[in-house]
Amino acid sequence: MSCSPGAVGSPWLRAACRSGGPLVRLARASAGGIYDELASGLRGEVVLPSSSAYDQARLLFDTRFDTVMPRAIVFCESTADVQRTVRWAREHAVRIVPRAGGHSYGGYSTTTGVIVDVSRLNGITLDPSRRAVVGAGARLIDVYQKLALNGRTVPAGSCPTVGIAGLALGGGVGFASRKYGLTCDNLLEATVVLADGSAVVANAHAHPDLYWALRGGGGGSFGIVTRLVFRTHPVGQLATYAIEWPWPDAAKVVQAWQKLAPHAPDGLFSVVNLNSVVAGRARITSAGQLFGSADRLRALVNPLANAGTPTRFTVTSRSYLDAQEMWAGCSGTIAECHLPPQGQLGRSTFKGKSSFANKPLSLKGINAMIRQIESRITTGSGSGVILLDSYGGAINRVKKDATAFVHRDALFSMQYLAYWDPSAAAEPNLRWLRGFYSAMRPYVSPFAYQNYIDPDLGNWERAYYGTNFDRLIAVKRRYDPQNVFRSSQSIPVKRR
Ligand SMILES: Cc1cc2nc3c(=O)[nH]c(=O)nc-3n(C[C@H](O)[C@H](O)[C@H](O)COP(=O)(O)OP(=O)(O)OC[C@H]3O[C@@H](n4cnc5c(N)ncnc54)[C@H](O)[C@@H]3O)c2cc1C
Repeated sequence: MSCSPGAVGSPWLRAACRSGGPLVRLARASAGGIYDELASGLRGEVVLPSSSAYDQARLLFDTRFDTVMPRAIVFCESTADVQRTVRWAREHAVRIVPRAGGHSYGGYSTTTGVIVDVSRLNGITLDPSRRAVVGAGARLIDVYQKLALNGRTVPAGSCPTVGIAGLALGGGVGFASRKYGLTCDNLLEATVVLADGSAVVANAHAHPDLYWALRGGGGGSFGIVTRLVFRTHPVGQLATYAIEWPWPDAAKVVQAWQKLAPHAPDGLFSVVNLNSVVAGRARITSAGQLFGSADRLRALVNPLANAGTPTRFTVTSRSYLDAQEMWAGCSGTIAECHLPPQGQLGRSTFKGKSSFANKPLSLKGINAMIRQIESRITTGSGSGVILLDSYGGAINRVKKDATAFVHRDALFSMQYLAYWDPSAAAEPNLRWLRGFYSAMRPYVSPFAYQNYIDPDLGNWERAYYGTNFDRLIAVKRRYDPQNVFRSSQSIPVKRR
């Protein structure tokens, strides 16, 4: 990074600032104004639109938000950096939003104000009592790898580049969830920078209401989390399976899966995917992970496989880390399994929506789902998927009001996704997705997963938070009464 006006706070500039020579004055004069004021004393970096780093620094995972032009991106490197940035923003009435991994489905971690990026707060350590102390910006694949090297894990999601803060604050579901709970269920403590710039530690004893709200109340509402402490669990060898059937088996497979998956032993987490693949065909697949042996897994999923005539049925024994890399789609090294500029993974152009099924889908509902996937082959310009993730087990044993994550009686979640080429028009693809979601409304519960945040949702307060919403408002009023941390679906200070 050069000492361009767009890179105030770069290591080069910090060294110059410390030396106090004429270069400092030059750099400060060229950076100018309130951003220069922010950068002085910041360990991290302020990237302005004039920087060559800006066009990369401002991007989220979903290319749909590439048109948003922040006034600056502040790469914080310590809790003190975040505190300084929050105080500075309040003083100058600058709008700020936190960003960890940048995977918000609604684009809520970008702004035309200033992004407070915590991705450099990415340390991961195991303390002597085997608690994981994780910087808010750590990526899931790094959390898995670092902890697995010590034979431990925190249950989390499958996408390698998702940020731990955004995931944990909204819940966090993945292949270890039925065994060890959601990511937020394992959160023991968080350090949070509040709207007045103070930093507090929230846990069961200190700021218990804030601690409650951080476990499922969603990102971007109460403050900026800089550090998370998690309970960890032992991991070693496990087994995974993958099954594919011919498309005409789809209805029978979904029926069998919903009978098996939510009620299986805790160690088994499984998914069913119905996928419209371009080139005129659709696929139904299922995959899962058992904390147990390959023989036991095969016996457990045999009834599911036999619901149709599988064209593929594999069961594999592998290490925990190997399994997480496979779910993550990491084909190369862990270093490559990151987004540019560090890694080689690609971004995506997509929109997602979600539902929960609290009772099994009727055959009519299953057929509606199948028809919608088939319709995608000829509608829009990309692909469409529905992903069913099994709930039950440890997820559902937590009381609805014990944390802010209320979805404790679902059999499974349903995630509707449309993908398309960034150069294609979004509208036909969005229309298909919205039509799919509407077609399934009669068959599912009124709830939605807050981590698949959906700007379309009119009744999002109840859909994400149900009976916990009023308590979330009370916590918001106490910790951010001026609504500094806000998006169109953040917790408000009062009901609409
Ligand atoms: C490809 C993909 C795969 C996914 N897979 C899973 C999965 O397997 N399981 C699952 O449960 N979810 C999954 N998700 C959803 C994911 O959990 C959410 O999108 C999550 O919010 C992303 O977190 P982030 O830090 O990457 O995103 P960001 O966009 O950085 O943040 C999300 C929200 O949290 C806020 N926020 C970010 N950092 C902080 C902070 N430090 N303090 C306070 N607020 C903050 C942001 O302002 C924003 O509102 C997936 C998403 C994608 C795109």
